[in-house]
Amino acid sequence: MIFMLPLLHEKNIMYIFIRLFQFFSNTDQQKTLRRIFMAHKITDACLACGTCVPECPSDAISEGDPIYKIDASKCTDCGTCVSACPAEAIFPA
Ligand code: SF4
Ligand code: SF4
Repeated sequence: MIFMLPLLHEKNIMYIFIRLFQFFSNTDQQKTLRRIFMAHKITDACLACGTCVPECPSDAISEGDPIYKIDASKCTDCGTCVSACPAEAIFPA
């Protein structure tokens, strides 16, 4: 797609950049991107001990079924929960 840019008229290029800006300005899209590219994840090694919950400054960890889970839209990727977990069950996505 990017290789086609020289073929496009200046106004069209501006339009594309405006549309891209609008896309990435949308909160829902940002949450979707965060889910894809960011956020830590809890693996099946979780013992459901709950130690990580109070350690999270973003209140992103909650009890799941059967293991705890991280809300990707809240997680800021600070990594605090990783060292708090006794089972080494939390990893960067
Ligand atoms: S600290 Fe680790 S083992 Fe305990 S609930 Fe959190 S992820 Fe699971
Ligand atoms: S990485 Fe930080 S913000 Fe994300 S769940 Fe762990 S403690 Fe919370």
